[in-house]
Amino acid sequence: MKFAIAGSGAMGSRFGFMLHQAGNDVILIDKWDAHIQEIRQNGLTVNYNGTEKVVKIPIYRPNEVKGKVDVIFMFTKAMFLGEMLEDIQPIIKEDTQVVCLLNGIGHETVMKKYVSLENILIGVTIWTAGLIGPGKIDLEGTGSTEIQNFVPGGEEKAKEIVKVLEEAGLNGVYSENVKFSIWRKACVNGALNATCSLLDATLGEMFETDQAISITEKIVKEFVDVAAKQDVQLDFNDTVEYIVKSAKELGHHYPSMHQDLVQHHRLTEIDYINGAVARLAVEYGIEAPTNELITKFIHAKEQLLKVK
Ligand code: NAD
Repeated sequence: MKFAIAGSGAMGSRFGFMLHQAGNDVILIDKWDAHIQEIRQNGLTVNYNGTEKVVKIPIYRPNEVKGKVDVIFMFTKAMFLGEMLEDIQPIIKEDTQVVCLLNGIGHETVMKKYVSLENILIGVTIWTAGLIGPGKIDLEGTGSTEIQNFVPGGEEKAKEIVKVLEEAGLNGVYSENVKFSIWRKACVNGALNATCSLLDATLGEMFETDQAISITEKIVKEFVDVAAKQDVQLDFNDTVEYIVKSAKELGHHYPSMHQDLVQHHRLTEIDYINGAVARLAVEYGIEAPTNELITKFIHAKEQLLKVK
């Protein structure tokens, strides 16, 4: 199987690196000039659990990529998914499987415009990855990756991808209910990412405040109500408990949105997390004022920080 990673920043490079290390044929796709130049000249430098490794993996701009790949992993930030899919149309053939592992909700709406339904796989990954600079990434910890066909049929091909993920140490799982896992992760992100960014706090600092539980409950309640409209049953108490436990375990950690927005002044994926809940609530005729307000605060902060 030949793999392409569409969006080879932090997480795309993790998948590219681990698949390449396991002996697979992999290409990276990105549009960031300095990153492309560094990887072409000096290879991708990876701090892999404390050991530095340098690997040579071919990297292309979207308009340079040609030929046939069997599987494409999408790893842009959510707001650039459509642009990337548009640009790589020449390599999306009638049997190319396209796997979407972006954080957030509703990416299938974009995927459906560019990929036939039977070739779409959706999923969620709980691996992490950090970008140190052009061509340099930091990979620590462990994780897993769940995928499922967007429509029934095609499970055999999907399970072959799971097997490759397994062999590459990416801990692939074929899920029977990936929508639940996607919503649950989005809800965790929805409760912690924007709030810590607005408060400029670590997870631990947020949960030292008297307001943290009540804010979390308001956000989660709206996620639970909207998810139910999509036939996803998130349990309110379990989810709140899980969020509080995760926040305490990762107390010193700033969530990724804090890193993106507050530390690096980059655009956030808020419209695909809290913003998606607010938007869907309107469609279903229910209320999600907390998620709507949080989305507005984050957009206001993006504007104040003049993010790009
Ligand atoms: P990133 O910003 O590090 O990487 C995205 C890459 O996509 C960048 O290198 C960018 O140049 C490239 N890109 C964007 N639009 C493009 C386009 N149109 N054409 C070509 N290249 C384009 O982001 P990331 O942290 O790797 O996150 C990717 C996705 O994975 C996000 O949805 C994120 O929420 C999710 N995720 C990330 C982590 C993590 O730890 N980094 C963990 C779980 C999930």
